[in-house]
Amino acid sequence: MRWMDLSWAQAKNSLQETAVGLLPVGSVENHGPHLPLATDLYTAQRVAEATSQLGDWPLLPTVPVGVSEHHRQFPGTLWVPPMVLKAYVESIARAAASHGVRRMVFVNGHGGNTSALDMAARVLRDEGIYCYIFEWWVAIAELLAATCCIPHDHAGEMEASMILSIYPDLVDTTRYDEAAAPGVTTWGIRRNGVSVAFDTIDFTPTGVVGDPSAASAEKGKQFTDASANNLHEFCTWLSAQS
Ligand SMILES: [Zn+2]
Repeated sequence: MRWMDLSWAQAKNSLQETAVGLLPVGSVENHGPHLPLATDLYTAQRVAEATSQLGDWPLLPTVPVGVSEHHRQFPGTLWVPPMVLKAYVESIARAAASHGVRRMVFVNGHGGNTSALDMAARVLRDEGIYCYIFEWWVAIAELLAATCCIPHDHAGEMEASMILSIYPDLVDTTRYDEAAAPGVTTWGIRRNGVSVAFDTIDFTPTGVVGDPSAASAEKGKQFTDASANNLHEFCTWLSAQS
């Protein structure tokens, strides 16, 4: 069920105490020269939509812009401070709870959002509102490891596959060569175990970690389906808790 398409009369009847709201949280940031800035927004939204269809879980409107200041050197990147994202999702969760939906999953599409969402979830828990963070690339880590050369890439095979399956027209496959970042296989730089990179551009000039050349829409569909199945199972469990 799509929250934003309900009338208030329908919402009054549909939003049950056992419902688990799905709140997609995205980002608008560098995803290389070949993928749209809203890659994380689209992937989070698609996984949440697919999950909502499996269990009729209420799908809330997507929070589009996240914590992406570390991509600021790449044109088009937008960001909000972590405390703004925290306050915003907390407020949405409180509003949903006022209508009886006190269980929610933040369907996160961007790793930079995680700590702000985690802080929000901890504050909300003390108010009797139970929010959990679902990150599709974490939930299907085994499948990704078996499928992709670099499972947790940024704008590489994993994310390019997702966008090929959602909005293929937004992928510029002619720029794959330019996008591939040779030798960049992990996020960040570490010296003696200490993270020393503040911005993405410090370790990847193209903004990419990994190589999109083996991406395919079939893989993206597989990732979405596996993620949605996982999240649907989690929501079923959460819904049954007293
Ligand atoms: Zn991304």
